[in-house]
Amino acid sequence: MAEAAIRTGDRAGAFGEQLGDLTQALKLGDALQLESVINRSLDKTAGMQESAFALQREVMASREEIERLRVDLSRARKESEIDPLTRLLNRKGLDLRLDELLSQTPQPAGRSCLVMLDIDRFKSVNDSYGHVIGDQVLQAVAQAIRSGVSNRSHSVARYGGEEFAILLPRCNLATGLALAEACRQRVKALRIRDRRSQTVMLNVTISAGVTEMKPDDDALSLVARGDGALYEAKHAGRDCVVSA
Ligand code: GH3
Ligand code: MG
Ligand code: MG
Repeated sequence: MAEAAIRTGDRAGAFGEQLGDLTQALKLGDALQLESVINRSLDKTAGMQESAFALQREVMASREEIERLRVDLSRARKESEIDPLTRLLNRKGLDLRLDELLSQTPQPAGRSCLVMLDIDRFKSVNDSYGHVIGDQVLQAVAQAIRSGVSNRSHSVARYGGEEFAILLPRCNLATGLALAEACRQRVKALRIRDRRSQTVMLNVTISAGVTEMKPDDDALSLVARGDGALYEAKHAGRDCVVSA
């Protein structure tokens, strides 16, 4: 497009000179000279028109290219917040939503909750069945957790390896606890089957920590309290939900 613009600029310069010659010839009133200057001006006008059309085509093509890039960029930005294995939000996606929630003034009516969840004794699943089955378990657990969260303002994320998080804006502790408990039960009811024989291979459980947002919380303090509650759930014997 820049090249087409330079070409058009050059031609416009030559065209300007031609118009100057034409003005001079008109002043002198020499009919013979006037005719040849007019003919040259017609040529330059045609050249100028051709350049302008070429520039117009380039501008249109560039506009389409910019639109394509804009769509690609927005797709890449969304994809960068998604965990490829489970298709849940990844940690970055959750952090962004958490920052957004914390920066809202005034805070949304009603308290918000954070639920941290972690698969129990997942290392032994990998050790006994291998990483491929381990990945399959992660996907099944992610799906079980996601299926219990229907509110579009709630965010479900894979926070790390075998750890998940649910951010619940405008949700009190009792509702957060009930949602975490429902997730725990759905995961416990999962039966991971061998894809070929369809026989049940294993079942897994999760532990969860639930915490309600306090007025002076930042992302760090909220996540630390949620993690603390999860740690207590592990210490209480796993496969349970604890609040903090
Ligand atoms: P706990 O009940 O205390 O949470 O025990 P745990 O075994 O679940 O915890 P630990 O932190 O000891 O082990 C976590 C395991 O999760 C170890 C790691 O190999 C596995 N893991 C993390 N990310 C992935 C993954 O993407 N795929 C698979 N297959 N395994 C993963
Ligand atoms: Mg674990
Ligand atoms: Mg863990």
